Amino acid sequence: MKGSIYTDDKCPVCGKVFKYDANRAVMFCANGHKPIPHYGKCRVQFQRTKKRFDSVQAAEQFLNYLRWQYQSGGYDPRDYQADNPLAFKTLADKWLAQKAKENIKSTTLGNLRAAIYRAMDYFGTKNIKAINDGDLEDFLYADHKNHRTGKPISDKTRVEIRSTLHQFYSWVCRREKIPCRTSRQSSLILAGGVSLISKHSKRLLMKYGAYQGT
Ligand SMILES: [Zn+2]
Repeated sequence: MKGSIYTDDKCPVCGKVFKYDANRAVMFCANGHKPIPHYGKCRVQFQRTKKRFDSVQAAEQFLNYLRWQYQSGGYDPRDYQADNPLAFKTLADKWLAQKAKENIKSTTLGNLRAAIYRAMDYFGTKNIKAINDGDLEDFLYADHKNHRTGKPISDKTRVEIRSTLHQFYSWVCRREKIPCRTSRQSSLILAGGVSLISKHSKRLLMKYGAYQGT
């Protein structure tokens, strides 16, 4: 079995370490002082993931979850890093920094920035893998306002937001090796939302290269 539970607490009788008794949510003295169980502070170590807990029971639940994730191919140590490298905001900042280095018009860059800032405000530090199709759709069709006039944004602006998200997701999935589930989700959004807006917008979508419907 991969991973285990450890603690810095020692047996009060002999001073030996406590050892995890698998799947019984308890730790016992390595010297066999069984009447003195340890249920409290401990930490899970699994591959590159380390996490502290106040109870062996909570630690065990987490350890079993990680093992299940590992078995089913979904374990990603980045999901548990304290600095949250897959946070939407963190990745969007990186993407903007990259865009700023590319040879694109300053007005185009300004539009990308304005659109992605809206998404950064909306999704914040949420793990990008936890953002699903519905979340993207809710964001895209949220009650966005023009920052200068305070009026609802135009169809053109919404198309720009959509196109920006598409570019961002393509970059992020390739660069961070995120399962293409996410990029498919963004494609769904790009294709599925078209009928909700006007023919004029459809033309704009085609112009911006983000239209995938018929
Ligand atoms: Zn002992």
